[in-house]
Amino acid sequence: MQYDVIIVGSGPAGSSTALHLAHLNPRLAERTLVIERDKHPRHKLCGGGCVPEVEVILSRLGLDYREVPHVDVDWAWLTFRGRGFPLRFNRDFAFRVVRRNEFDGWLADQVRRRGIEIKEETRVTKLERTDEGVAVHTTRGVFHGRVVVGADGTSGMVRRLVPEGDHPAPLARLVELVTPADPPHVRSTVKDDDAILDFTYMPEGVQGYVWSFPTKIAGLRMRNWGVYDSRTVPRKSVGSLRPVAADWMEKAGYRLDDYHLEGHPIRLFEPRARFAAPNVVLAGDAAGVDATFGEGISPALAYGELAARAIGDAFERNDFSFGSYGKSVLASPVGRSLSRRTHAARLLNRMSNPFVQKLIWWRMAPVARWYITKVLFNWGPQVKPLPALHIRPEAVPTGAEKAAEAIPAPHARPAAVRSERD
Ligand SMILES: Cc1cc2nc3c(=O)[nH]c(=O)nc-3n(C[C@H](O)[C@H](O)[C@H](O)COP(=O)(O)OP(=O)(O)OC[C@H]3O[C@@H](n4cnc5c(N)ncnc54)[C@H](O)[C@@H]3O)c2cc1C
Repeated sequence: MQYDVIIVGSGPAGSSTALHLAHLNPRLAERTLVIERDKHPRHKLCGGGCVPEVEVILSRLGLDYREVPHVDVDWAWLTFRGRGFPLRFNRDFAFRVVRRNEFDGWLADQVRRRGIEIKEETRVTKLERTDEGVAVHTTRGVFHGRVVVGADGTSGMVRRLVPEGDHPAPLARLVELVTPADPPHVRSTVKDDDAILDFTYMPEGVQGYVWSFPTKIAGLRMRNWGVYDSRTVPRKSVGSLRPVAADWMEKAGYRLDDYHLEGHPIRLFEPRARFAAPNVVLAGDAAGVDATFGEGISPALAYGELAARAIGDAFERNDFSFGSYGKSVLASPVGRSLSRRTHAARLLNRMSNPFVQKLIWWRMAPVARWYITKVLFNWGPQVKPLPALHIRPEAVPTGAEKAAEAIPAPHARPAAVRSERD
C-alpha cells in the first residue's frame, strides 16, 4: 500500500506528528498511516512527569490532557544528602504526573478521531529505500511511504536510515519501579504529593539523580521510583544501577527485592547529531531528548510539530531531502532548550565533587531554581500559535478534514493551570 507519510511509533512523538499533520495539512493527514508495534493502552516505562510545555503543545491542538488520570505534584524537592530546595514549574503545583499507558492511549484516540489510521500490533522489521521513498516491511505486510517518520523510540529501526555522523547522540540509562505510596510497616516520610529528585549518588558515578514521584494506578495512590544516569561525560561509572536503586529504596523503607525493577535507555539530544536523511525524519527519543533530567515527553510532542511542518514543506516544494530539518530543530524553542540542557548536563556531571554538589543544592537554591525553571526549561512561552485550520476551497472535505474541522481553534492555556511565567 502506498502512503504519503508513514509514522512508525505512536508514543507522544508519533501521535503528535499525526495530530499536527491533521491540523496543518489535513490532505496529507488523509494519506498518512501510523504503525505501532503494541496495542494501546500499552506499557511504557516512564515516570510520567509532565512539565507545563506538555500543556502548551496540546492546548494549541485544542486538547486538554487533564482528561487523563493524573497527580499534580505539589513541590519537587531537589536534594543532595538529605538537604535541598523545593521547586515548581507552575504557580500552583510543581509538575503533573500521568501513567504513560493512559496518556499515550488517550493521545492515540485523538489521532484516530482525526481520521488517521493507527495499525496496532504491527512491528516494523525492515526498511528499504526505493525510488519513490521508503518500503516499510512489517509483520503485516509491506507499506510504501514517500516520507517515513522515525517516532519509534530510542531503539527504533527507522534511525538506521539516518547516517550516525561524527557526533552520535549518547544513550542514558534509566531504571524504574512502582510501589505502594507507603512502605510496609511505616508511614512514608515524604509528603504524599511531593516529588524528590536526589543527586546524592553523583560522587559515586551516577551522572544524574534518583527520583520518587507520586502516581496513581487504577485510582490508587502509588509511588514511582527510579535512577537516571545520563553518561554525558567520560568518568568513572557506577556500574549496575540496581544497587543504587536498592540503597535509595532502603532509605525510604522498601526492599527492592519485593518489587520489579525495569530498565530502558533514552537517546539524549546532541546538537551536532543528524536528525533526518532523504525521505526520513526523526522525532522524540529517536532524535534525542533532555540530557539534564531525562525529560522527554514535552520534547517528543514538540518534535511532532517540527516534523509535520517539515513534511508539509517537502510536499509543497517536491523536495524530500530534509536538508534543513536539523537546522529547524536547533532553531526551535525546544531545540534551543535541549541544547542548553545538553551543555548543562555536561557541566553538572563534571562537578560531581561532594563539596560542589553541596554548594549547588544547599547554598545556591535561588540561582539553581531560576536556572532550571527559567533557563533550561521555559521554552513554552516562545512557542508561536498554530495557524488556524486551512482547508483548500476547491477541496471536497473528506473524513479527515471534517474531523480536523471539529478541532477547536487554538486557545490559551486553561486558566486553572497558570505558570509562574505568566
Ligand atoms: C524509566 C524512564 C522514566 C522516564 N521518566 C520521564 C518523565 O518522568 N518525564 C518525561 O518527560 N520523560 C520521561 N522519560 C522519557 C520519555 O519516556 C521518553 O522521552 C518519551 O517516551 C519519548 O517518546 P517517543 O514517542 O519518542 O518514544 P516512545 O514513547 O518510546 O514511543 C515509541 C513507540 O514506537 C513503537 N515502536 C518501537 N519500535 C517499533 C517497531 N519496530 N515497529 C512499530 N512500532 C515500534 C513503540 O511500541 C512505542 O509505542 C522517561 C524514560 C524512562 C525510560
